[in-house]
Amino acid sequence: MDLHSNHPYWLMRHGIKYVYPSLRNDLRDEIVIIGGGITGALIAYHLCKAGFSVTIIEKRHAGFGSTGASTALLQYEIDTPLHELINKVGESNAVRSYELCIESIRMLKKITGSLRVDTGFSEIPSLQFASFPSHRKALEKEFSAREKFGIGHLKWLESTELHRLFGITAPCGILSREGATVDAYALTHALLQRSIKMGAKMYDSTNIVEIQHGKKQIALTTSGGNTITTKHLVIACGYESQKYLTRQVEIPNSTYAIVSEPFENGNFWYKNAMIWETADPYLYLRKTDDNRILIGGKDDEFYNPAKRDAKLPKKAVALHQAFGKLFPGIDFRTDFCWAGYFCKTKDGLPYIGSVKQRPNTYFALGFGGNGITFSVIAASMLTQLLSGKKNKDLSIFSFER
Ligand SMILES: Cc1cc2nc3c(=O)[nH]c(=O)nc-3n(C[C@H](O)[C@H](O)[C@H](O)COP(=O)(O)OP(=O)(O)OC[C@H]3O[C@@H](n4cnc5c(N)ncnc54)[C@H](O)[C@@H]3O)c2cc1C
Repeated sequence: MDLHSNHPYWLMRHGIKYVYPSLRNDLRDEIVIIGGGITGALIAYHLCKAGFSVTIIEKRHAGFGSTGASTALLQYEIDTPLHELINKVGESNAVRSYELCIESIRMLKKITGSLRVDTGFSEIPSLQFASFPSHRKALEKEFSAREKFGIGHLKWLESTELHRLFGITAPCGILSREGATVDAYALTHALLQRSIKMGAKMYDSTNIVEIQHGKKQIALTTSGGNTITTKHLVIACGYESQKYLTRQVEIPNSTYAIVSEPFENGNFWYKNAMIWETADPYLYLRKTDDNRILIGGKDDEFYNPAKRDAKLPKKAVALHQAFGKLFPGIDFRTDFCWAGYFCKTKDGLPYIGSVKQRPNTYFALGFGGNGITFSVIAASMLTQLLSGKKNKDLSIFSFER
């Protein structure tokens, strides 16, 4: 698949951060993870910490899949607002999903702190504003639902307060204390490096072309003709995981992003909060750790790389114009723009766990705008599962839901 256009900002900024060998011999390991993006890296890190012997296999270079194109906002607010999610999956599952996302941001803060390398992690508030006066009611409903269930530390902002803190002209908004941003590509390499120090083996430029499930073991074949055998397989292939499933779970989208030239002064608005809106598709903004403003959105509901990339110049202008409307006083000059494939699910929740057809195989599919927070949840849940522990929340994200 073609996961993104050329020149996503993070890949341009860091290039090939670390080199990993390709696999040139047969291999056997306790657990094999297919996918060397942020999800595979997080799972490897958790499994190594739990004492497992792990091999990670990546067909591109590590982080060159969706991770390298990610705008990497860490939100607990799921694509489906809490009050709507309650109607879709029930009160307890919806509330627990939101709680788990908040825990996941805390967990990532701990992990990035312990890595002691620069991963661009920064804790910031999150502002969601109403795009139109007609969106006020739904936002009020969302505020009440989150208050009722104690989700996040919230403040309701009317338009004057919104303007005072952010300089934005909008009807109202929800300001939430919990949120973060990260450099997903740098974090992936940091996690892989730490996992390797704990004993993990990492191979890139190694494509798995066949998976055979035997009674006692799983055999993987690479395009180079090598065989990998393992007891347990983890599929962390991002949006390329669908081919390993019999049921369609992905809803394909194309998304677009631009990043500004760096500013001398990196104080843009209240606490440099991440900003997003109620419109669907929504526009979102964040600051990068090198004082740029990153804007994403203008999504389309299709997977067609040629059409997507052809639309990129116009989308970049549209994102720039949308920013200009919101912040007429900020001289945003586009430095990089890119487009990416992006998948959603019917309820906005990820798929984590197993399917009957593939024994001893575990999927970590953090689809949607919360992909990275979902990957943190998946890493922790799958490690518990592989350690023989039960996790009562796993059913929320199961394929049978
Ligand atoms: C433009 C854009 C903006 C985004 N913004 C956000 C955001 O703000 N916040 C957020 O949380 N999420 C965001 N996302 C989503 C987020 O980037 C993804 O959820 C996340 O990167 C998925 O990571 P992954 O490791 O699962 O997938 P990937 O990074 O795609 O990694 C999977 C890897 O598996 C490898 N692979 C696949 N098949 C095989 C095989 N057969 N053999 C070997 N290797 C294989 C691929 O090469 C790939 O590198 C965004 C995505 C895009 C594109």
